[in-house]
Amino acid sequence: MERGLYIVPTPIGNLADITQRALETLQHVALIAAEDTRHSRKLLAHYEIETPLCAYHDHVSEQVTEQLLLRMVNGEAVALISDAGTPLVSDPGFRLVRAAQSKDIPVIPLPGPCAAITALSGAGLPTDRFFFEGFLPAKSHPRRKRLESLRHQTGTLIFYEAPHRIRATLADALEIMGPEREAVLARELSKTFETLKRASLSALLAWVDADANQQRGEQVLLIGPAQDQQDTELLERDRKLLFRLGEELPPRKAASIVSDLTGIKARVLYEQLINREKK
Ligand code: SAM
Repeated sequence: MERGLYIVPTPIGNLADITQRALETLQHVALIAAEDTRHSRKLLAHYEIETPLCAYHDHVSEQVTEQLLLRMVNGEAVALISDAGTPLVSDPGFRLVRAAQSKDIPVIPLPGPCAAITALSGAGLPTDRFFFEGFLPAKSHPRRKRLESLRHQTGTLIFYEAPHRIRATLADALEIMGPEREAVLARELSKTFETLKRASLSALLAWVDADANQQRGEQVLLIGPAQDQQDTELLERDRKLLFRLGEELPPRKAASIVSDLTGIKARVLYEQLINREKK
């Protein structure tokens, strides 16, 4: 097998969701670096794969990373897997991929399962543009700030969320994005209790409140793009005016003037200006 670091996606629930190429790769590499070796052993046993395993996550010592790199420098093939889905997507691997690249070790990513893309494909929300946020902060204050910064995104937003926080996140999203914003809760994808529910944020919150089972299991929350034109795309001319004034005046003043001239809410303009300055 060609030397290199193989990034191998594994099933997110249904064990049959693994590609032929992923199985052959796991069979033939010299070593599989796994987020949790005990967890991955079950998958490998199911497919009768006996390749040696070692633990890899983003907090392993430099020494462990160096040993892995050395094996690949010396011509071996190593596979990286996480507990479920695509490694590096809200999972370990980023540091290893960068380290491999810096040593000219080929990195070979295999296509495969990913909860975010699976949820998006079945959600019935716009897919032409989407923004993957992964996990929001666990505490309400930073979570709300993050949601606030995403409020005007013109693509579908995708979040991973822990079951015990889904209610609180829905409540925060409702307050910040408005009760009518369309959203989807995609739960237990590819498993027995798979559920995809599309509704307004307020209806979705009422739904999880009415049935505690909807707060169980693995969850992807998707929120549809901002619809209100004021919230989304400022006309190009207004945007130019805002940014030009922002160079000369404090942001609040610039936003207030453009608001007087255009009727667009000063808060929306102010946020555009601040977000642009942060970039
Ligand atoms: N790397 C994985 C991927 O490619 O999707 C994601 C890993 S992340 C640590 C785990 C989160 O992904 C869960 O908390 C949940 O939000 C989401 N997830 C994973 N499997 C899922 C499933 N079967 N149904 C719904 N969400 C899932």
